[in-house]
Amino acid sequence: MKITDIKATTVTVPLEAPLRHANGCHWGRFVRTIVEVETDEGITGLGEMGGGGESAEAVFRAMKAYLVGHNPANLEEMRFLIANPTASLYNNRTQILAALEFACLDILGQKWNVPVYEILGGKLQDKVPFASYLFFRYPNPKENSGEVRTVEQLVEHAKDLKGKYGFTSHKLKGGVFAPEYELECYRAVAKELDGDSFRFDPNAVFSTEQAIWFGQQIEDIKNDYLEDPVFGLNGMRRTREKVRMPLATNTVVVGFEQLAANVLDTAVDVILLDTTFWGGIRQCVKAASICETFQLGVAVHSSGELGIQLATMLHLGAVIPNLSFAADAHYHHLTDDIIEGSKFRYENGAIKVPNTPGLGVRLNREKLREYSELYKRLGSYPYDQDPLRKGWTPIIPNNRWADQKDARTPEISF
Ligand SMILES: [Mg+2]
Repeated sequence: MKITDIKATTVTVPLEAPLRHANGCHWGRFVRTIVEVETDEGITGLGEMGGGGESAEAVFRAMKAYLVGHNPANLEEMRFLIANPTASLYNNRTQILAALEFACLDILGQKWNVPVYEILGGKLQDKVPFASYLFFRYPNPKENSGEVRTVEQLVEHAKDLKGKYGFTSHKLKGGVFAPEYELECYRAVAKELDGDSFRFDPNAVFSTEQAIWFGQQIEDIKNDYLEDPVFGLNGMRRTREKVRMPLATNTVVVGFEQLAANVLDTAVDVILLDTTFWGGIRQCVKAASICETFQLGVAVHSSGELGIQLATMLHLGAVIPNLSFAADAHYHHLTDDIIEGSKFRYENGAIKVPNTPGLGVRLNREKLREYSELYKRLGSYPYDQDPLRKGWTPIIPNNRWADQKDARTPEISF
């Protein structure tokens, strides 16, 4: 079997409300690139990458020069072809490789009539548990709904998500407001949902002293871990010496070199694997195996997935024996998806691993067209900007917090 063509389409899919984070905001939607790899046997595989636009589409088109005529089963060869660690020093294509790997695994699964998890060693669990992903949110400007800013709104939102989807682990994305206020918010959610477990992630904008202070204030809570309270392995190591709970990262250990550094001089206990950032599902399986040897915890990171990427997270979660924590997903904030059938469904806080050949998802052409048109109309958005604070940027460590009393609604279209 040979690859004959590679196509990329940028889409934007609406969120229930704009999601605020330490570096800015998701302005009411996600932008993703949907990749289709075609073969001479008529089988097409699906991939997905974060971000998009003309340049992303052009990069995937350029990969045709490397991959047309290539056998999609030669995945290690493809890794060196696209993202050789020395050749790509000036041209990092890790995320491009990931999207192509998803598509090739999808092709192989369809060709061999097996789900991707069977190619990866077979599934150890039928469903993957997820954490609720709680964000501070601006109101949706269309209906002026969905705001999460006050302690009461956050607690209601957490209860609502638990009621709808059955989550028993809850992650609060912080780093937006001053740490004292976010501590109050986190403690209020933990108190309301007593018995569940919790994790807090301020996206590494605290100083090390703030990280230590914050960590010590929450030691009595049933924490899964404290995620990226501070930037850099050294700050994490200093925090870890003084805070009695596991530290997790999706920021400072995002490749094998950093994983090795963290094994030799440990700064982080739990590694959040991301099928895109690490260069594919297989790279994540390899990393999980290293974590197993050194007894580091493993969780799954979410970079704002639609159904194709969510499927890669499910197949990953199914095959690794050491998924020690519920996975993260932004998925429940999305209003729609580009896959056939409806969105993936949560049952008791978990999603079933697809059992059909390949990744187990197919494109809904109508939705693809609809959200590609929406992208053409709206374009991209500045992820690292806050729509209500023009020109603002956080410093690291940050002291330019948003005001929790500011109840304005941003004027943005989505
Ligand atoms: Mg994180």
